Amino acid sequence: MTKKTGTIMIAACVSIALCHPVFAGFDLGGMIKAGTDLTKAATLTEGEVKLLASEASKVSDSENKVAPTSSPYTKRIDKLTKGMKYEGSTKPTIKVYMVSEVNAFAMADGTVRVYSGLMDKMTDDEVRYVIGHEIGHVNLGHSKKALQTAYTTSAARKAGAATGGVAGKLSDSALGDLAEKLVHAQYSQAHENEADMYALNLMKTNKYDPKAAVSALRKLEKMYGNESSVFSSHPAPGNRAAALEKAM
Ligand SMILES: [Zn+2]
Repeated sequence: MTKKTGTIMIAACVSIALCHPVFAGFDLGGMIKAGTDLTKAATLTEGEVKLLASEASKVSDSENKVAPTSSPYTKRIDKLTKGMKYEGSTKPTIKVYMVSEVNAFAMADGTVRVYSGLMDKMTDDEVRYVIGHEIGHVNLGHSKKALQTAYTTSAARKAGAATGGVAGKLSDSALGDLAEKLVHAQYSQAHENEADMYALNLMKTNKYDPKAAVSALRKLEKMYGNESSVFSSHPAPGNRAAALEKAM
């Protein structure tokens, strides 16, 4: 893998204050139908993956309250990621969702979303570790794989096949279905560990306190247990904390 590093520049956040049920367009019937005849893995180009991710990201942003630029949450995120160095070529775009749940997720186009509920519970360096972990999923190719998997079983693929295109012509409900899958994408334990090591390296490179990686995971473990259900997309925080302690 060629090593390419980047530095985070702060992008202004757009305030979207629409507040209706998340992923109202979720089409379970269509999803099941689409899933039954689609057992082969989707073959998407790099460009298609990023396009789909960015479309899904837009739908997700429209269905959640994004913290406006003036929000203390946005100011805090901007401050603590300013000049953050990271490895890889996909530039993260970080925004905060005003959601009390303790969670964060990433998509293959560099979309990183951190929930205000997580920021309320964590110190600056712990939030940096979470962001580093998410950027890791993106730049290690995990988010791309997650999208390929989600697309294989999603209504979006069927809709895309019907219209002969990948995104753009897809309905909001098909994209909402895909977005919902990406927000709750399950990563393998191997990918979790790789993203943790990526984050640990990022913490050291940027001279943040690497111990915050362990304390963040211990907090999650305390809140939700080792078999975390709320933070389900990032399982077994206790085991991961132990692995990181060992690596340090
Ligand atoms: Zn993860």
